[in-house]
Amino acid sequence: MKPILFSFHNTKTGKKESFSPKDPNSVSIYSCGPTVYNFAHIGNIRSFLFVDVLRRSLLLGGYQLNQSMNITDIDDKIINESIKQNMSVEEFTKPWTEEFFKDLETLQVLKLEHYPKATESIDDMVSLVETLQSNGLVYEREGNVYFSIQKFERYGELSKIDVSGMKSGVRYDADEYEKDDVRDFVLWKHQKTNEEKCWHTRLGNGRPGWHLECSAMIRKIYGSGIDIHTGGIDLLFPHHENEFAQSTGAYPNENFVGTWLHCEHLLVDGEKMSKSKGNFYTLRDILEKGFEPRVIRFHLVSAHYRSKLNFSLQKLEESKIALDRIQNTIFRLIEDGSLQNQIPVEWKHLTFTIPEIQKLESDFLQAISDDLNVPKALANLFELTRIVNQFLDQSEKDNITPFYHESLGLFFKMNALFAVLVFEKPKAELDGISEEWILDKILERKLAKQNKDFATADLIRKELEKKGILLADTKEGITTWKKTP
Ligand code: AMP
Ligand code: ZN
Repeated sequence: MKPILFSFHNTKTGKKESFSPKDPNSVSIYSCGPTVYNFAHIGNIRSFLFVDVLRRSLLLGGYQLNQSMNITDIDDKIINESIKQNMSVEEFTKPWTEEFFKDLETLQVLKLEHYPKATESIDDMVSLVETLQSNGLVYEREGNVYFSIQKFERYGELSKIDVSGMKSGVRYDADEYEKDDVRDFVLWKHQKTNEEKCWHTRLGNGRPGWHLECSAMIRKIYGSGIDIHTGGIDLLFPHHENEFAQSTGAYPNENFVGTWLHCEHLLVDGEKMSKSKGNFYTLRDILEKGFEPRVIRFHLVSAHYRSKLNFSLQKLEESKIALDRIQNTIFRLIEDGSLQNQIPVEWKHLTFTIPEIQKLESDFLQAISDDLNVPKALANLFELTRIVNQFLDQSEKDNITPFYHESLGLFFKMNALFAVLVFEKPKAELDGISEEWILDKILERKLAKQNKDFATADLIRKELEKKGILLADTKEGITTWKKTP
């Protein structure tokens, strides 16, 4: 099958463009990944889920992929923390890297072909600095090596940042940057004291600046430029501008990146979710509130990647209700059509003949190929749910109609993008009690609390606890439940 045509909004040109990878069958993609010194927050996770949506969409479109995400395991915070905790950088970052992969697994994120680490790419970074040295784009001060942006005419081309006010030789050698601060940036930091963590290289004892790793890894993995580069919008400047300067400065005759895609932020009360502001949730914070991973995934992927998404538990609860509606329809469909043993195993081999289903499939593929329009694809999923419910509500229906199989097949195919639906009813292991009974008890407790009868509310909580059911109340007044592990 010939891959379908995609179009993407390319940050570099500011336009939506038809996408044509260098190799028509295989797409090379690089995404900036996590800095591993703590748990990722769900803002970071939104940007990783965007990479997953990109991967799943291109797979649905018939492409093969060669995709990478770096693990930043060298930066100032990491080095300072590892010294404080008397550990090597590798020892300190190992558990955080594992937590990162656990989060991805919990959220059904597909594995990529490569996860390069900064600590394993030092040689490649040194070679890149040497190439820049021989191209005359760098200078040395006090043992540090800087990229001179005045010597690289195309600086600012990606982010459209204005460099005209910049004084020659103004340097920046921290890993943390102010937005809009245009300066020469450090490529290699030389070791200041003997205690400082360093690598012994041809450039001397020291460590790389943060921007260097992505350019070096792309070179190492792909040998030349790539089709797509992604990251959160906050990385556009200076990080991506500097990557562009390094790679294009070193290899001026190559096109470093065909398409730049940037994912918008997850906000809390209108502000970017970030560790420094303290306004963040980790994945485990949300799971502890009783939300299932698939609800969190559904919520974070359902907005378009170029739209800001304001996060609240109330909105997460709304996503849960919407997802339950779709899920219940699938269970009804499977039961009514006796499809328990006929659930597809692979979406690739599904074909559709019923015009209504065919049209929905084609609209769905059209939506994702149009700059990953997930909200539109979601509308197709809701439309499928609506027509299936309408069909199931009919009192007289033909029990052998292909509609059963084809509608189930399309749910299955759409789930290759969303990865939030289940096709087998989970066995309720609730020791003789039903979910309805639990929900009734929760309602009874809510009414007791409204009537200020806190003694009864407490009794109900304890009664549930005895049955192994734990309740959690959110600030928004929502009660969720989970089984004790
Ligand atoms: P870091 O671990 O800080 O290097 O960030 C990893 C990724 O998360 C980067 O692509 C950031 O742009 C992205 N990111 C950070 N904060 C947010 C946020 N609030 N919403 C969406 N993406 C974010
Ligand atoms: Zn990067």
